[in-house]
Amino acid sequence: MSNPSDIDVLVIGGGTAAFEAAVAARQAGAAKVLMLEKAPEDEFGGNARFSHTGFRFVHSGANEMRQFLPDIDEATFKALHPEPYTRDNFIDDLHRVTQGRINKELAATLADHSNKALHWMREVGIKFDLDAQSYAVIDGRYFFEPGRGLQSTGGGKGQLTQWRDIALRMGIDIRYDSKVTALKGSERQIEVVGVCAAEGEYEIRPKAVILCAGGFQASAEMRARYLGPNADLMKVRGSRHDTGEVLQMALALGARSAGHWKGAHASPIDANFPDVEVSNNANRYSYMFGITVNTLGARFYDEGEAEHSYTYAKTGWTVLGQPGGVAYQIFDQKGLPLLIQNRYVHAEPTEANTIAELAGKLGIDPTVLQHTIEEFNNAVQENTPFDPTKRDGRCTVGIQPKKSNWAVKLDKPPYRAYAVTCGITFTFGGVEINTHGQVLNTAGRPIRGLFASGDIMGLFFHNYPSCSGQTRNLVFGMIAGASAAASVRGL
Ligand SMILES: Cc1cc2nc3c(=O)[nH]c(=O)nc-3n(C[C@H](O)[C@H](O)[C@H](O)COP(=O)(O)OP(=O)(O)OC[C@H]3O[C@@H](n4cnc5c(N)ncnc54)[C@H](O)[C@@H]3O)c2cc1C
Repeated sequence: MSNPSDIDVLVIGGGTAAFEAAVAARQAGAAKVLMLEKAPEDEFGGNARFSHTGFRFVHSGANEMRQFLPDIDEATFKALHPEPYTRDNFIDDLHRVTQGRINKELAATLADHSNKALHWMREVGIKFDLDAQSYAVIDGRYFFEPGRGLQSTGGGKGQLTQWRDIALRMGIDIRYDSKVTALKGSERQIEVVGVCAAEGEYEIRPKAVILCAGGFQASAEMRARYLGPNADLMKVRGSRHDTGEVLQMALALGARSAGHWKGAHASPIDANFPDVEVSNNANRYSYMFGITVNTLGARFYDEGEAEHSYTYAKTGWTVLGQPGGVAYQIFDQKGLPLLIQNRYVHAEPTEANTIAELAGKLGIDPTVLQHTIEEFNNAVQENTPFDPTKRDGRCTVGIQPKKSNWAVKLDKPPYRAYAVTCGITFTFGGVEINTHGQVLNTAGRPIRGLFASGDIMGLFFHNYPSCSGQTRNLVFGMIAGASAAASVRGL
């Protein structure tokens, strides 16, 4: 096996963060860029393979959105009503959902660069579509969730194949079935990277290394170790290859940890889907238009706290904490038309004409479920108008937990229940980087030659605003790629 010592920038991983960093490094002047992807070629791409890859970014509204959607027809364009999303909106969202714990400099960097980064992506050739998960069409008008509206054409797989074409055109070398097994050096400097490939083991001595190997969500052992009780039982929404070994090697080298090590993006997904590589079809995110009960028949969280964008990434945890880690989302005929249908069609719900019959089918004590729903219905404040397009303040009063918005009595049969469990998307604990994408050691100094982007960098706490993962990959991939190339040039 060759022993390449002339690699300028070695990128570890084959997901979107890796492609973005590799392309940025090449564009910034690194002559020889190599990507090492652990997965075989037909499984390359990490989590994005299972995602539609929506983006959250600072933008000025419909006219700017149109630059990303050049083929959109005039009638559709006129119906689009995305509110501008400002730097302050993005920063406020990041601080609010992380309960003020996010690194302020990195949050500002993410918000400040998000617009430029999306335009860069468009300019290097990635195509975009309207993100069907980001809007509701009401009376022919498209109302968007704040900061959202775009996804890459072809979803995550489409984005990955577009990146791969661009990378290959730029002369970037991509090796599949190439697992990184060692990072050698010290907390002052990265020196050697060990690789176990299908054809044998070898070492590389690159001038710079960018870590883009994702989180540790696909390792049941690490989930149990870091995330706590029953985390090993979570279903894994994304790639089976994200098992955290590169993160552990970086920590062993001397990298400082950052982000929420007991935290992860974990959402409510169909309880009957496979344990790994579940895909977006399992998403059950319309809980705000009904109620959710556990297997004992009790409600246990505020289903109407905010739009799902701001709650879904923590709601999986809430479900995991219930008996058996399972719960039921229950809707009546008023709520059902509001479900995100292109997801719920992939479910096998339980239906019944009475609550008692539904409870019987679900194995819940009928008197308890009837009592829960009667109590809920009596608490609904019907004098406030229902409005699914915004937080309408139509809440419950006098029950725990409260439902803060979109509270509507469940009284129009047939009733339908969807069984849900916890699906982990990605972990929040990672290595600490600075605003130049450099990995810091435990003394707070950069480890020379070592950079990172994506889920392997610790950033989020408790929760995350939807679709900021892809934007974080992009922003810090661009930064890490440019910094790595500059370090090779001795800048
Ligand atoms: C179902 C689903 C839907 C999502 N939807 C969205 C969305 O719409 N918007 C959004 O912003 N985010 C979304 N996310 C989250 C987002 O996609 C991820 O956070 C993001 O893709 C992480 O990118 P990454 O490149 O850091 O890691 P990954 O995409 O996980 O890639 C890690 C790569 O590293 C490789 N690797 C791992 N170990 C090694 C090793 N030892 N040696 C070499 N290579 C290794 C893996 O094979 C993989 O290629 C979603 C995630 C999932 C699972």
